[in-house]
Amino acid sequence: MPIINTETRFISLKSLVSHAATMLLLTTGFSAHSAPTQSCAQQAVTLQVLGSGGPELNDDRVSSSYLIWHKNKARILIDAGPGSSVNFGASGADFTDVQAVLLTHLHVDHSADLPAYIKGSYFTQRSENLTVYGPSANALMPNTSDYLTHLMGDEGAFAYLSDYTDDSSQADYHIKAQNIPLTPIKRHREKLSEDITITAIPVHHGPVAAVAWRVDIGSCGITFSGDMSNKNNVLATLAKDSDILVMHNAVPQSATGAAINLHMRPLDIGKIAQQANAKRVVLSHFMNRTRNDTQATLKFVQQHYSGKVEIATDMARF
Ligand SMILES: [Zn+2]
Repeated sequence: MPIINTETRFISLKSLVSHAATMLLLTTGFSAHSAPTQSCAQQAVTLQVLGSGGPELNDDRVSSSYLIWHKNKARILIDAGPGSSVNFGASGADFTDVQAVLLTHLHVDHSADLPAYIKGSYFTQRSENLTVYGPSANALMPNTSDYLTHLMGDEGAFAYLSDYTDDSSQADYHIKAQNIPLTPIKRHREKLSEDITITAIPVHHGPVAAVAWRVDIGSCGITFSGDMSNKNNVLATLAKDSDILVMHNAVPQSATGAAINLHMRPLDIGKIAQQANAKRVVLSHFMNRTRNDTQATLKFVQQHYSGKVEIATDMARF
């Protein structure tokens, strides 16, 4: 399997601003590669960040997306934000290995690359069916199954890909969706294979249907907040004793109004992480209002959380 040297790639692709930020991170003890926790190392599991940004065009980051590697195979894709399919290829991942796609919600910056992955898969050897898990509909957002149909159904924008969504077609494999119910506090848990279990819980993201995800591979647990405020107060229980807790830092502590109806503030991040007893926190989903102020964010997070906090960069592995 081709392994890209992510250090080289990182420097070659990023602007001077981002490079300066990297140097700052290096001098403050962070790096783009961090050894996995013991339980994840024992299971040969690593988390790779494909996209650590949000929806902005000038944030110098790919939009939200993560890959979980197990025994050198890319097994679970969490979110499929714009640009992530490029980094998926650059990571050396093979789409035939992916066992499931887990979407936290259907905002563009978390889901818009999905058709790019499916079209790209035509040029792979994939023959296993693929399930895309995501939220059920609410007043604002469609079911994940309708999202697939609107895009790739026979009357969808990309109807030319509809063989993939039509079970009776001769496509090499078929995609199906599983809509996660938005029943408050209720978890959806599913064993994908002997090793891998996925769990979702509905979270509050303003008016948007959203879930947080946890992936357990043996004794290694990795939890993804997705975008959320902490109004439902459920993430800490889902993330209990996680090896890695990926938390989205879309707003600064000073945020008010609509922004905090959608997103958690840094103090919340610290409180949740402490309550969850997470072994490490990876901050991600940076926006222009947070990406150049990570030191301030860290101070707020560390007021409540005493574990290790790291800053996600595109392609970084943990
Ligand atoms: Zn969102």
